Amino acid sequence: MTKYEWTKKQVEMATLEHPPKNRAYIDSFLSAVEKAGQSLTRTQFFELYKASVPGEDEDVDYFDYPVLDDHWVLVADFKEAWDIPAPPALPRITTQAAAGETSLPADFCTLGGTPDWIQNECFPICHKCDGDMVLFLQLKSLPYEITEKEKALEACTFGDDGHFYLFLCPTCGTHKTSLECH
Ligand SMILES: [Zn+2]
Repeated sequence: MTKYEWTKKQVEMATLEHPPKNRAYIDSFLSAVEKAGQSLTRTQFFELYKASVPGEDEDVDYFDYPVLDDHWVLVADFKEAWDIPAPPALPRITTQAAAGETSLPADFCTLGGTPDWIQNECFPICHKCDGDMVLFLQLKSLPYEITEKEKALEACTFGDDGHFYLFLCPTCGTHKTSLECH
């Protein structure tokens, strides 16, 4: 298990960008972090942070930042607080795929490389060892011209022209998936 040194400065840095107007939220968060001490992992940090932000039933207009209910967004936003070098990307491999007689676009499936992000860059953190994860596989939604002929291939579309990502932890082999779409 990788442990990251935690200082109050780092926590404050991480919360600086989205300071709640209600100081009580940030205080409860900081005291929970302090209680956890140096054994706090990044995954636990995000769990604590999530618990300290206002819930869906609370008046979000009261706060001067958009309520962050998406764990992936949090991971992207707070990356800089750790200053941990990310593992190098795997070599990018592109393959030519076909479904029966239908050839699929050359960029439908890629292995390794850097994700083609649609929204925000958001590499996940491994929940087992707290390490940064790398892209293992990326699938791009098949176009309508293909799925209208081959209905079964609709399973290979992700939201509105989205991408599907499979991430791998190079340290312990854990996998995690995510989707991004327009
Ligand atoms: Zn791991």
